[in-house]
Amino acid sequence: MGSGVFSLSALSKYSMTDRPIQIYDTTLRDGSQGEGVSFSLQDKLNIARRLAEIGINFIEGGYPLSNEKDVAFFKQIRKDNLGDSKICAFGMTRRRAMKAADDPGMKALVAAETPCITLVGKTWDYHATDVLNVTLEENLAMIGESAEFLGRGAEVIYDAEHFFDGYKANPEYAIETLRAAASAGAKYLVLCDTNGGTLPEQVAEVTRAAIDGTRDYEVRVGIHTHNDGELAVANSLAAVDAGASQVQGTINGIGERCGNADLISVMANLALKKKGYQVLGGRDMKHLTELSRYVYETANLQWRGGQPFVGQSAFAHKGGMHVHAINKAAKTYEHIDPALVGNERRILVSELSGRSNIVAVATKHNIQDDRELMDKILSEVVRLENQGYQFENAGASFDLLIKKLSNTFTPHFEPIKYRIVAGDRDSSSGGVFAEAIIKLKVGEELWFDAAEGHGPVNALDAGLRKALSGAFPCLHDMKLIDYKVRVVDSGAGTAAAIRVNIESGDTKETWGTIGVSDNIIAASWQALTDAVEYKLHKERSANSV
Ligand SMILES: [Zn+2]
Repeated sequence: MGSGVFSLSALSKYSMTDRPIQIYDTTLRDGSQGEGVSFSLQDKLNIARRLAEIGINFIEGGYPLSNEKDVAFFKQIRKDNLGDSKICAFGMTRRRAMKAADDPGMKALVAAETPCITLVGKTWDYHATDVLNVTLEENLAMIGESAEFLGRGAEVIYDAEHFFDGYKANPEYAIETLRAAASAGAKYLVLCDTNGGTLPEQVAEVTRAAIDGTRDYEVRVGIHTHNDGELAVANSLAAVDAGASQVQGTINGIGERCGNADLISVMANLALKKKGYQVLGGRDMKHLTELSRYVYETANLQWRGGQPFVGQSAFAHKGGMHVHAINKAAKTYEHIDPALVGNERRILVSELSGRSNIVAVATKHNIQDDRELMDKILSEVVRLENQGYQFENAGASFDLLIKKLSNTFTPHFEPIKYRIVAGDRDSSSGGVFAEAIIKLKVGEELWFDAAEGHGPVNALDAGLRKALSGAFPCLHDMKLIDYKVRVVDSGAGTAAAIRVNIESGDTKETWGTIGVSDNIIAASWQALTDAVEYKLHKERSANSV
């Protein structure tokens, strides 16, 4: 305390007395319970890396007993350097009448080899006796023995399920369950509003009671809320004001039913609006908009325009007099400066959403001082966004676009034509087949090849790389990792378009490309050729240095 080792300039915005609030993300587990949300293994790895980049304290990866994907996730993410962020595996207390060490769930949690394990247990006496069919004493033993067992190799975060409803029904017993976890060595006791129906004043009161009831232990109390009363963020803040020091939630609030607490709003409110708290070690909040959109795109969900802080409309202004006023005194119509969360003010009819991205990429290409080129890029992005493009998740296509507009793009190949034949096989072999025939030019030479695939896109991908592999052997280590299709509303007055996002990878990195067309094959072809061009440009610049 007060040893003076901190750089004052880095922390100047915060006073030394600001209380650090840990941010615990469960997008990959609770968030994936949301309707229409499904993450591939690669999606999960990408999101975890993004979360670590912005400094989220805890990243819950999933439930290792439930599926192979989560097991693979823990295995792969272990190799990453995630800075100060800790990966958590999630699981339930041991089964009744079984030793913790023998329980398959406990074993799976240990095998995930994470620095933290989040253990969920029953708070509500009714749930113990009528859902689990165990005595109240056995429930306490299940909590304590599980926490003790898991705590031998990891930091244990205890999630007290239905804490608020359980407390209402039987406050003494609810507190007892927390004490069972704390006395067994759990480091965090997280109060869950599992049904999402509690009000802020109740959350505050019960949080104070939980802190009071566990004073004898060296533990921190956290909060995990659901949004059924549209109060998940307010409830999280109420718990923090009552003394909680960890907030669990998801990016954009995605999750089961009405979702979880939206960590974007939680972090923005704690860091920018409320006084006395420090989040993400005092880092700024300028990456929130980018993070929010990245998660939407990866989850294949539409953005919420009116989402507080980061929505496209959060700082949008329409109308003559009003716009005039905005230009004169932005503050009169905005609760914060949009730049603080990486968002931007939008005036008139501009659809532009990616200005900050453009500036960032422009800096990478060292063209930010070329005003004429910057204008050209901006207007091209507006035009493409009106057609249904979104570059948030298609950095490689965006890179190529900038190269094209700045006349530094030399294509490695020229697609001449492709043809797809698709149909069902005869009844004896079953299934659907597709064949792609690809014709393209490399320099003056014509290349021609055909390939089969499980579907048209698979066949196109195989055919394209086969046709090019003679000229470019480096394509051997490239593979298609993920493929997403969405119907999007393009600009006013035109038909709906198909947007295809492709994630490709090689041994070193992954990259995203995009294609938009009214035809799904054409959109896929565009995203595939971009993916290959990007790889070839990457190899060329790597070899030239
Ligand atoms: Zn939950």
